[in-house]
Amino acid sequence: MNRATTAGNATIAGTAAAATISKAGEAGAPANLTDYERTRARFSWSDARALLDGLPGGRGLNIAHEAVDRHAAGPRAGTVALRCLDRAGAVTELTYAELAAESARFANALRALGVGRGERVFSLLGRVPELYATALGTLKNTSVFSPLFPAFGPEPIAERLRLGGGRALVTSPELYERKVAPIRAELPDLAHVLLVGAAPDDPGPAGTIPYRAVTEAVAPLFEIPPTDPEDMALLHFTSGTTGRPKGAVHVHEAVVAHHATAAYALDLRAGDVFWCTADPGWVTGTSYGIVAPLTHGATLLVDAAEFEAARWYRTLEEQRVTVWYTAPTALRMLMRHGTGPARARDLSALRFVASVGEPLNPEVVVWGAEALGRPVHDNWWQTETGAIMIGNFAAMDIRPGSMGRPLPGIEAALLERGADGRALVTPGGHVRVIDEPGRDGELALAPGWPSMFRGYLDDPGRYAASFAGGWYLTGDIARRDEDGYYWFVARADDVIESAGHLVGPFEVESVLMEHPAVAEAGVIGKPDPIAGEIVKAFVTLRPGHRPDEALRRELVAFGRRRLASLAPKEIVFEPHLPHTRSGKVMRRLLKARELGLPEGDVSTLEETP
Ligand code: ATP
Ligand code: MG
Repeated sequence: MNRATTAGNATIAGTAAAATISKAGEAGAPANLTDYERTRARFSWSDARALLDGLPGGRGLNIAHEAVDRHAAGPRAGTVALRCLDRAGAVTELTYAELAAESARFANALRALGVGRGERVFSLLGRVPELYATALGTLKNTSVFSPLFPAFGPEPIAERLRLGGGRALVTSPELYERKVAPIRAELPDLAHVLLVGAAPDDPGPAGTIPYRAVTEAVAPLFEIPPTDPEDMALLHFTSGTTGRPKGAVHVHEAVVAHHATAAYALDLRAGDVFWCTADPGWVTGTSYGIVAPLTHGATLLVDAAEFEAARWYRTLEEQRVTVWYTAPTALRMLMRHGTGPARARDLSALRFVASVGEPLNPEVVVWGAEALGRPVHDNWWQTETGAIMIGNFAAMDIRPGSMGRPLPGIEAALLERGADGRALVTPGGHVRVIDEPGRDGELALAPGWPSMFRGYLDDPGRYAASFAGGWYLTGDIARRDEDGYYWFVARADDVIESAGHLVGPFEVESVLMEHPAVAEAGVIGKPDPIAGEIVKAFVTLRPGHRPDEALRRELVAFGRRRLASLAPKEIVFEPHLPHTRSGKVMRRLLKARELGLPEGDVSTLEETP
């Protein structure tokens, strides 16, 4: 089979930017391949572990101790750990000492309720300070924290609580009434429901207790019990992009990777004002939206509101954000309005911008450099990996459109693929690593990094099937260039095979996005009797463009000029593309709708605005 090697390179060459954004001239950023190799060679996970304290008296390793208690006991006690903006813009700040106290209260509350080691505590909350106290207090108590995205409906909530065996749930009176009360009878194991925002003396609905009633009745001091680094700490459900969400199990040792990867891939340091726009309901919003900024002693900025372009720019400016971690969909939405709104702001505090969750179109990287004054650093990881694995990091030249290179301590490889599109595993259990650059294979990682998931909840078979020949198989297809940069091609499920060519939807989407009328594109393979599949694109437009036949023809011709045989044969306009709530284009849903097939699990589908 031929491969679509040219499309990705054409994308880069065709943009206004050079194929590489060099950091060579930047202060403190000695950017070249040698430094990358040297950094990797110098790195070891045991050194990274030594940067953390461990529990006093050699009693193990606990995420919450590293994130708050060790700072609260030292010179950073008075530093702002958490700065929360509510929807109206009002600010609540908690210092490290205060966050340590609030999370200690929650840990004591759990203890008073009889919720113990390994038991699951779920949250279903907006991004309010109590969410952070709940997460950290749960970890202090050596219980397991599992965050739910508050926009879920009752069924996805019930399913996750059931699967995770939730013993306690922290939510708000409104969310309880609308989303939990209707399913409560189905959840006999859910012993305790705490309501944030209810007055301490409010009896509330039967079977609930006001959060404050329990947290104010206990002491703001809590000694973390011995914690084995292998104790289960976090339960995260995947985004459900390819089907039913899976529950990934993470342990306390993961904090070593949260800490180290944030330093390398996000350039995070003490003193930063760090804004991660992901909700803690997704792994990004916990690993980097709670844990990593706190382990570094930074100020974690939290905004309770959802995306709104003007508000986000204002927040970046007024809060003097120094490191910003966001997602391609948000950046594409900002890009719709050009560079003007960003340039009207004083973003001089901003030092580093990074993105994750979906392929980052080169066009967006280039736009970032112009609009924000900083290129966007793409990085790649998954719920299962628990932390960033591949990235364009601070001291490294950026290749727009590339995910970057493996982080220190991470060994990645591409594996030869079989007929089903996934890594080919011989009957003896062997796989073949692709050494030559430019060939695509299934992206695989050498197990052993601290934040690797330790299992899929209640699904050991699936977990076992994620490993072969000594590698963890990611389910993503990528290729590597001569300099070791990895380029995302597609999820294995999304690969298109058209007339003997292998087409990654991302390449086609990125080319379409270079047309000034296109805001976002989703590309699928549509079955075709002659070609096997043809490439079909669903396109949303930027403001001021009409979805008419002339534009459609123009886009088809534009695609053909740029992509030749890989170009979309069919293009249709859509007012919105379906996204998961974590911000990913749901190509499988576009395809199911196209083929008139059942939509499958859509529990994580975002509501159409
Ligand atoms: P599910 O596993 O339930 O289908 P999901 O894979 O979308 O959902 P997540 O773990 O949230 O759940 O997302 C990880 C996936 O997101 C990666 O496997 C990859 O497909 C995609 N992804 C993340 N970052 C990037 C990136 N920088 N470039 C390209 N793809 C990315
Ligand atoms: Mg996945």
